[in-house]
This record gives sequence, structure tokens and C-alpha cells, in this order.
Amino acid sequence: MERVPERDLFIGGAFVPPVRGGRLPVICPFTEQPIGSIPAATAEDVDAAVEAAAAAVAARQWTTSTGAHRARFLRAIADKVKERKAQLAQLETRDMGKPIAESEWDMDDVAGCFEYYAGLAEQLDGRQGEAVDLGTDDFSCRLRREPLGVVAAITPWNYPLLMVAWKVAPALAAGNCVVAKPSELASLTTLELAAIAAEAGLPAGVLNVVTGLGPDAGAPLAGHPKVAKVAFTGSTATGRRVCAAAAGNLRPASMELGGKSALLVFEDADIEKAVEWACFGVFWTCGQICSSTSRLLVHESIAERFFRQLKKRAECIKIGNPLEPDCRLGAVVSEGQFRKVMGYIEAGRAEGATLLTGGRRPPRLTRGYFIEPTVFINVEPHMCIWREEIFGPVLSAATFSTEEEALRLANSSEFGLGAGVISADPERCRRVSEALECGICWVNCSQPCFVQAPWGGVKHSGFGRELGTFGLENFLSVKQITTYTSEEKWGWFPERSPSPR
Ligand code: NAD
Repeated sequence: MERVPERDLFIGGAFVPPVRGGRLPVICPFTEQPIGSIPAATAEDVDAAVEAAAAAVAARQWTTSTGAHRARFLRAIADKVKERKAQLAQLETRDMGKPIAESEWDMDDVAGCFEYYAGLAEQLDGRQGEAVDLGTDDFSCRLRREPLGVVAAITPWNYPLLMVAWKVAPALAAGNCVVAKPSELASLTTLELAAIAAEAGLPAGVLNVVTGLGPDAGAPLAGHPKVAKVAFTGSTATGRRVCAAAAGNLRPASMELGGKSALLVFEDADIEKAVEWACFGVFWTCGQICSSTSRLLVHESIAERFFRQLKKRAECIKIGNPLEPDCRLGAVVSEGQFRKVMGYIEAGRAEGATLLTGGRRPPRLTRGYFIEPTVFINVEPHMCIWREEIFGPVLSAATFSTEEEALRLANSSEFGLGAGVISADPERCRRVSEALECGICWVNCSQPCFVQAPWGGVKHSGFGRELGTFGLENFLSVKQITTYTSEEKWGWFPERSPSPR
């Protein structure tokens, strides 16, 4: 099988091999074959990357440049991503197994993200010097929004380049310098982004990419004393470690973590449309989505019809070689993930949930980490398939009889990333969306994501928001510049002692 580009780490504007020379194999998830390798960075390489970024911060050219200046680089990167869309999408699919049509969509989103933050970088210039009314004529106050310095971006494998873009684009727009550490399971496109940044003429040290294992490369980055901010997306367990490492240096961190989002379907829903959103909500990207609506709550009065249609629809999903344009369900990312998801399917069976469809590797696909779209019904709240994030094409469904019960079941989760409500009654949709404990709430849909709207969760799904204007604020420090404008002396301490001592 065709090999992928074998790149080195990207540090200080150049590709350099890791100090200890290690490399990690890249295994294609749908052929199970090695197709190349990525560099395995260790603490020495991370240190070099942070030093390169710190040197670029200290040089002040990038950090004090105008937003309009930085926007030109962001747009150049966006243009190059668009030019290389086909190649990047192919690499993404071969690296992590999602259908090619999804990878192409991701590349459009990556380019769109750089373009969006280019626009916000330009607008930032107009917001500099914003006046603050102090309620007195004796002082004036103006605000400056400044970059934080070196930003660490640590990302997962499910949307490899997009998750990097969500951090790198706003961080650069704000004037920071970045060290990105993509997931060891899918680093190829981030290494290509480094090449694109170099082609776009991004100054040396402004973007650095280190690849490698979490404990070897991620941990030293999260805890590096010269890192001013850690932006993390990944599992809740790793998030805890990263957050603790950042806290050790009293550095801020944003945490985009796991989820177990619920989709609530009421009795007045259009069943056909609701079934399609239920499928999209959990089978898109093979269910490997933080916000995947992997818990489904259906009103008992429509449950039978709904589940019949759901089974039919799930069984129509085309599963197989993700490079085929009409493939709709690819392979899960790795053997480890395959085993983890199959383990949950076994646990669901053992705990007594009813397997409506799926639950195995399709018999005709003897190679590749493929798992059929799987639906469990009669799932109860104590079952692990209801409580834990599976991160695969597995839907856990239950029924409810009242709105209160649906909300109680939906909210009784340690996670709080997304949630969805499907109903023909706008008043109910409003009420339910306000009562759901989450950061992202979909009404009459599930999963669509827009760069303009804030993204993030509550509870164990994390804190902080990415995307939209919130995503830019994440990477800015606000400085107040307060000027004494009165002609009068301040006069607090007397000029002469009132009486001799
Ligand atoms: P993960 O936590 O295993 O890894 C994420 C990143 O952290 C990787 O780059 C990894 O190398 C690194 N890492 C691992 N150990 C580390 C350590 N000790 N210190 C620093 N970095 C370390 O997550 P994953 O399996 O790559 O991704 C799946 C998870 O990501 C799921 O839980 C999913 O819900 C979550 N996710 C959340 C969002 C969101 O927006 N909330 C988006 C996508 C994925």
C-alpha cells in the first residue's frame, strides 16, 4: 500500500528529527497495515519546541503585529489547505479511518476556521484601545487585548486536523506562538499543516509541531513552565492530568473533554426525520465524536415504530473501505479502540440490554477495525453502556413517559457536553433546551457544528469555550491602561508634616 509522507518534528521553522531518533508506526485502520511512521518526540524535543516558540514571543514581531498582518498568514494557510484538500482528506482517512466524504468536509471546515479567525484578527485591531467609562473625569481607561505568549495545543484523533485548527487558528489570530501536540494515533495532517505554514511564510517558531506519545510528549508540554496556556481536547481522564500539570505552573487551561450526550425524541416528532438525526448523531465519524448523542430517549408512545425504523435505517448504512466516496461508516481508529468498543458491546449484552441491531464486525470484512452500527434498547441507567463514553458506533436507547422523566434521565450523567431535543412543539423545545445540562443543545437535529458558535461543555465534559468570538478570547489577555488626566495634584499625603514630630 502507498506510503504516507515521513516527516520530522517541526521546530523553529524547520523539520528536525527527534533528539532520541524514535519513530512510531502509522497503522491504517481499514487495512491493519503499516503505512509509514511519525516522529516520537520526548521531553528534549518538547523543550526545544517551547524554546523556539518562546524565542518567537520574545522577538515581539509576531506578538505585536497587527491583527490584519496576522490575518494574511491565516488566509494563506486556508488557501493552501483548500488547494491540498484532496491529499489532506486522503491522509486523514488513511490515518484514522473515517469516510473520505467526511474527511473532505473536515478539510473545508479547517480552511473555514482559519478564514473565520483571520476575520476576527482583523476586527481585533478596531477593538484595541476600547475606552472604559470610569465615572470620573480625572482618569481615562483604555483596554488592550494582548496575546498570552506560548500556547500548548494538545489534541485527540477523532477530528485530527480540525481539532488542531480550532486551537491554532484563534491562538495565532490573537498573536500567540504555538506548540501543537496532535494525537499519536493521527498526526499526519498536522505535520502537513506545519509544511503548509512554512510555505505560507509563517515566521520561524510561531507554529511548532511535536508528535509522540501522551506521557512522553504531551505531559512535558502540559507542564512546561514557559507555556502560558494549555488548550486541551481529549478524554476526561487525560484532561484531569493535563489540568493538574497546568495548575502546577498556575497556568490557565481550557478543557474540551468527553461526553455521553442524550437525544430526546417526543411523541409529536416526525419519526422519519428523528430517526435520521438519531443515526447521524451516533454513527457519523463512527460514533467517535465527543458530542455524539450516544444516549437516546424516545417517548414510549412512539417507541415501537421508532425503533423499527431505526433498525432498518442503521442496517442500510454502507460500511466498508472509507476511501470509497459513498462509504458512510469507516473503521474505528485502532485495534485498541476496536477492542474497547467490542468490550462495551459485550458488557451491554451481559448487563441485559436488548441488542436491536449490529454488535459485531461485519462478517464480509475480515480485515480492518470495522464495527456494525449497533443499537441497544431497554438500556437502564445503571448499565455501563448508558453511563460511560464508548466512543464508537453504539447507541444506547431507553423510553420515557413524561418530560420530567426524560430530563431527569438526560441530566443524570457526569458529562454535560451536548444534548438534543426533537419535537414539533417550539415551546417544549425551548423549555427542554433550557433545562438540559450541557454546553451545546441541538433542537430538531444533532451534531451540526458551526465555527461562529461557541463549543464546550459543563460537568466532566470540561470548561472554557472554543470557536466563535469566545475561541479568540481564550487566547487573549486583557490589559487596562489607566491614565490620570486631571491637572490637579493627587494630594493624598500632605506635602508638609502638619505638626512637627
Ligand atoms: P486522549 O485523552 O487519550 O488523548 C488526547 C491527547 O492527549 C493526545 O494527544 C494524547 O497523546 C495526549 N495525552 C495523553 N496522555 C497525556 C498526558 N499525560 N499529558 C498530556 N497529554 C497527554 O483522548 P483521545 O483518545 O485522543 O480522544 C478521544 C477523547 O477526546 C474522547 O473522550 C472525546 O470525547 C474527547 N474529545 C472531546 C472533544 C470536545 O470538544 N469536548 C472533541 C473531540 C474529542
